[in-house]
Amino acid sequence: MNQFDVIIIGAGIVGATAACALGEAGVRVALVEARPLAGDADEGVRDARVFAITRASQRIFEALGVWDRIIARDAYPFREMEVWDAGGTGVIHFDCADIGEPCLGHMVEPRIIHAALLERLRSVAAITLFCPAQFRDISIDEAAVSVSLDDGATLSSALIVAADGARSPLREQLGIPTCVHDYQQSGLVARVATEYPHHATARQRFLPGGPLAFLPMEEGWSSIVWTLPTAEVTDMLALERDAFHAALGQAFDFRLGRIVDSEQREAWPLRRLHAEHYVRERVALMGDAAHAIHPLAGQGVNLGLLDAAALAEVVLAARARAGDPGTLPVLRRYERWRRGENLLMMSAMDGFNGLFGNELGPVRWLRNFGLSAMNAAGPAKDLLMRHAAGLAGDLPALARARVDSP
Ligand SMILES: Cc1cc2nc3c(=O)[nH]c(=O)nc-3n(C[C@H](O)[C@H](O)[C@H](O)COP(=O)(O)OP(=O)(O)OC[C@H]3O[C@@H](n4cnc5c(N)ncnc54)[C@H](O)[C@@H]3O)c2cc1C
Repeated sequence: MNQFDVIIIGAGIVGATAACALGEAGVRVALVEARPLAGDADEGVRDARVFAITRASQRIFEALGVWDRIIARDAYPFREMEVWDAGGTGVIHFDCADIGEPCLGHMVEPRIIHAALLERLRSVAAITLFCPAQFRDISIDEAAVSVSLDDGATLSSALIVAADGARSPLREQLGIPTCVHDYQQSGLVARVATEYPHHATARQRFLPGGPLAFLPMEEGWSSIVWTLPTAEVTDMLALERDAFHAALGQAFDFRLGRIVDSEQREAWPLRRLHAEHYVRERVALMGDAAHAIHPLAGQGVNLGLLDAAALAEVVLAARARAGDPGTLPVLRRYERWRRGENLLMMSAMDGFNGLFGNELGPVRWLRNFGLSAMNAAGPAKDLLMRHAAGLAGDLPALARARVDSP
């Protein structure tokens, strides 16, 4: 029997970050991951899907000694953001200088974050990685959790964390109910080269079928997320290169000129999922295992990183009081903290998606008026910008500014 303080199932970005936050503080962590983890050897294969990492997530990575490892590989800052409505004149423009930040966030490929996290994980003595491995049986009693893995190992701990993604086998096995909504949309992602430079500006055009985002990578290249009704996405994936470039350029109103090159077209079905409970005695859910949201504001993994930082803070506080971190009163603090924040972001994403997908005349007028009014309203706009950069709300200590942070 391998005895740990916390078992984390899933070493995606969220689970691996939680392991670092706990392990660094001396908590004995077992991290169980089903897929063989790619190290730097796989860095040559670029990801089609690229994540917008907020300032808050950057701070979490900085605090855990992961950010330098990300920057040493590849990360692209964006300093401005422009959002407009295809069906009108409304436009909103954000500039990081208005909120005194050096940027609004960075575009980073998941493989880069994984490689940096893996390198960091391997340097923390308190973390034991079981990989590739999957749990087979779990038993939870009053005092502990016991988990058997498919390689024959048996692990025991005071707390088990599900960080095993939106389909979360652990959440399913425990029968924790979820509320699911299929958007009937898919997110088409690709890397594209444009005729004009992007000047480190993230741009999003709201079309009736869904938003189309151009997110800045190396100059001249952008990562796109094009939300399309699922019925249309197969045709778009099958289009010949030139026809795809023409359709994409037109959908983006040629804001960056013609599309001159593209790589790696893929599509992801989009659905919203929210677990009805994030915790039960000796169990906590985090990241996509607890909530999956519409990618229109690029917030999914960022919310998961805040979950990881918040749960680590709650567990460490309990340990500091010589308390048991797996008990419900301790875990409820985490649930109260994160469920409300995540629900707020989820509702906002649904509101935007519904509002911009509505072609009724008065609704169109109202949203164009709203965008322009918001663009002119200094404090309200600054607050919106702070939310987009992850700097608003009740932030865990790891995500707060430190005196020495740039
Ligand atoms: C088109 C698109 C664009 C997006 N863009 C952004 C963006 O710009 N910014 C952003 O913040 N978010 C974005 N997201 C959301 C983001 O992809 C997710 O929120 C994020 O990947 C969730 O991370 P996670 O670690 O919680 O889960 P996952 O990445 O799903 O990781 C779960 C891990 O658990 C492992 N696992 C599963 N089952 C088991 C098991 N039985 N035993 C052991 N291990 C197991 C898996 O192998 C995996 O490694 C986007 C999503 C989509 C669809």
